[in-house]
Amino acid sequence: MAQLTDDCFAFDGPMMTLAEAQAQIQARITPVQETQQVALSVARGRVLAAEVIAPVNLPPFDNSAVDGYAVRHADLASAGETRMLVAGRLQAGVHRDIAIGAGEAIRIFTGAPMPEGADTVFMQEDCRLEAGGVILPPGLNRGANCRLQGEDVAKGHVILKAGTRLGAQHIGLLAAMGLKHVELRRRIRVALFSTGDELAEAGQPLGAAAIYDANRPLLAGMAQMLGVEVTDLGILADDEALLSRALAGAAQSHDLVVTSGGVSTGEADYVKGAVESVGTMAFWRIAIKPGRPVAFAVLGGATPDSQAAFAGLPGNPVAAFITFAQVVRPLILRLAGALPEQPLAIPVRSAFAYRKKEGRREYVRVSLRRSSDGAIEASKYRQDGAGVISSLTATDGLLELPESMSALEPGMQANFISYAAFMGAI
Ligand code: AMP
Ligand code: MG
Repeated sequence: MAQLTDDCFAFDGPMMTLAEAQAQIQARITPVQETQQVALSVARGRVLAAEVIAPVNLPPFDNSAVDGYAVRHADLASAGETRMLVAGRLQAGVHRDIAIGAGEAIRIFTGAPMPEGADTVFMQEDCRLEAGGVILPPGLNRGANCRLQGEDVAKGHVILKAGTRLGAQHIGLLAAMGLKHVELRRRIRVALFSTGDELAEAGQPLGAAAIYDANRPLLAGMAQMLGVEVTDLGILADDEALLSRALAGAAQSHDLVVTSGGVSTGEADYVKGAVESVGTMAFWRIAIKPGRPVAFAVLGGATPDSQAAFAGLPGNPVAAFITFAQVVRPLILRLAGALPEQPLAIPVRSAFAYRKKEGRREYVRVSLRRSSDGAIEASKYRQDGAGVISSLTATDGLLELPESMSALEPGMQANFISYAAFMGAI
């Protein structure tokens, strides 16, 4: 017997799980092959084409980690304080051949090369100066406060793998190796459209039944965080022929075309038909909420060179945000030749009850706070709607509720993903 339901996710046929969709993307997308030498100063956000092998040791020489006194540990008294003569001085950046003699200490500063023969440095705060020498306390281990050549990075070792996305921290490491250029994959070119007769451009007057286009700026920002080149191709009307032409045109000069809106099964949802007329659909429904209608296709010609990947996201901004992060982001990383990434999920305690449908992955917008017993607790945002864009700035991130779960109760643990991690900030 037919059942009536107000669940807009009740749908004919099985949907693809998010994991299956991500696996299909990995399997069907080939990374761009072109590489280029790029100055380190403009490499942030880009993807390494080849592993990087350390050309030098770091530190390049043994040096002091503190301001203090360098000694030979063997010269220290076996019990109690040791008095030593201060026989020289070494500052960072000054190279001087000072060999340490028996019973001698050398005044040394952070980053200065260790004197020949010295193996231990006392912090100046732990020492006393007295006429004729320095008094060193007992109990310091051999090697203390001394940084050895190559202990941070050993010359010849792999420091970064091919496919690493370069954050400021990676740039810092490469610079510490003295490298000025790196070999990167070329940037991915992404075309971005919004679809919908109701959409108006920011800065334009708003018609009676219109809303401003939030998705293009939102998705452009997320794409830029992944180091891609974004072409903003504006708003497309709900018209299948026009959509087909626009998609085919964009496919010629881009690696990926992304749209939002018009991908459900409503009568004014023309994206699916348009895609099928100029490409081949791989899937268009994923068991994810907010989200569900997410199209993945290949647009254009018979050869890989004339093809572009396509992702059609739902129109509601929160659904567009979540599906971009979970479907388009892995797609972009794969195209760009980057290593796959899973956003770090951290267990927190739920402060709320939540019912969900088994078989579907759900993302709940939550704020975190520390409860009186010290645990981190997540509270759900008061509005659930996939169109409530203000929820994304009023909360800290998402609880990821797995397919196997049907109910979350207060006090239960659930996995939290911060927005920065979700978007792939590096
Ligand atoms: P659709 O997926 O086209 O059925 O759109 C679902 C909802 O999202 C509708 O209320 C649309 O008006 C809204 N929407 C679609 N595209 C955008 C956009 N670019 N910015 C803001 N809201 C949008
Ligand atoms: Mg629409």
